[in-house]
Amino acid sequence: MRFFKEKFLSANCNTLHAVLNYVDVQFNKIRNFRENIFMKIAICIKQVPGTTAVEVDPVTGTLKRDGVESKLNPCDLYALETALRLKESCGAHLTAVTMGPPQAQSILREAFMMGVDEAFLVSDRKFAGSDVLSTSYTLAQALQSAGTFDLIICGRQTTDGDTAQVGSELAELMDIPHAANITEIRGIEENTLHATALLPGSRLQIAIKLPALIAVDESIAEPRLPSYKLKLATADREIKTLSLKDFADTDENHYGQNGSPTRVVRVFPPEHNTLQERWEGSGKENATRLAAFLEEGKFLQNPR
Ligand SMILES: Cc1cc2nc3c(=O)[nH]c(=O)nc-3n(C[C@H](O)[C@H](O)[C@H](O)COP(=O)(O)OP(=O)(O)OC[C@H]3O[C@@H](n4cnc5c(N)ncnc54)[C@H](O)[C@@H]3O)c2cc1C
Repeated sequence: MRFFKEKFLSANCNTLHAVLNYVDVQFNKIRNFRENIFMKIAICIKQVPGTTAVEVDPVTGTLKRDGVESKLNPCDLYALETALRLKESCGAHLTAVTMGPPQAQSILREAFMMGVDEAFLVSDRKFAGSDVLSTSYTLAQALQSAGTFDLIICGRQTTDGDTAQVGSELAELMDIPHAANITEIRGIEENTLHATALLPGSRLQIAIKLPALIAVDESIAEPRLPSYKLKLATADREIKTLSLKDFADTDENHYGQNGSPTRVVRVFPPEHNTLQERWEGSGKENATRLAAFLEEGKFLQNPR
C-alpha cells in the first residue's frame, strides 16, 4: 500500500511540476507578448556534402554530387542554437529556410527535431547555377515571401562554397543592418539587439536595430542534438516550398545562371607535384642550397 501511495505522490509531483512548468512557459509568453518582445526569427541553413572527398567531373567541371552523402552545414548548427536559445529566453517563432534541391528537405526535418517551428525549401530548376550574388538575391526574395522577420541568423560560412558572403549580401539586398562573427547575444531591448562581435585581436560590443541579420561564430553556444521526441512530434509537419512563381520578382533573368555575374571558367583539382630530390652534404651546404632553391622558385622574397 505504502509503495502505491509513494508512487501516486511521486506521479502527482511530476504532474504538478509539469503543470507549473507549463504555467511558467505560458506566463512568459503572455509577458513577452505584452512587452512586445515576441520575435520572428529566420535561420538560413544549407545542405553541404558530408565529405571533403567530392570529385570534380573533368568534362563539365561541376561537382559530382550524386551518391555523395549530405549533411547540415556545421556552422549553421550554431545559428540554429542561437535562435533556439532566444526562443527559450524571450519567446520567438523560428523559421528555417534553405535554398537547394528537393533532398535538402532532410536538413529542414533536422531543424524541426531541434525545435524550429516552420520550414521553407526554396527550390526551382531556374535557380540552378546561382553564384553567391544570385543565391543571396533568391534567399532575399524567399524571405520576403515567407513573412516578416525581426531577426535573420546565418552561420559564419559553408564548408563547400566557403565564401562567408551570403549573410552580408542578403542583408544588403534586404536593406537591413547586419553584423558578422557574433560570439554572444547580450539581450534585446527596445527593438535593439545587443551583441558581441569578434574582431582580430579584439571584441566589439554592438547595438543593432531590428530587423537585422547576424552571422554567428562557433563560440556562441554548444549546439544541441536533435531530439527523438521532437522527431516523432514533427514527423507530419509540413515543409513549405517556395519557387520563382511565389516571389515578388519573377524575372527569370535575375536568378540562377542568368542572374549570376560570376562565370566559372574551369574547375580542376590542384595538381600535385610528386617530384623528389635527395641532397647529400653538410647542414651548411644543404641550407645554402635550400635558400637558393626557395629564392629561385620565388617562394621567398628578399631572403637576404
Ligand atoms: C558561377 C557559379 C555557379 C554556381 N552554381 C552552383 C550550382 O549550380 N549549385 C550549387 O549548389 N552551387 C553553385 N554554386 C555555389 C553557390 O553559389 C554557393 O554555394 C552559394 O552562393 C552559397 O555560398 P557559400 O556556400 O559560399 O555560402 P557562405 O557565404 O559561406 O554561407 C554563409 C551562410 O549563409 C547561409 N547560406 C548559404 N547558402 C545558403 C543556402 N543555399 N540556403 C540557405 N542559407 C544559405 C548559411 O547560413 C551559411 O552559413 C555556384 C557558384 C558560382 C560562383
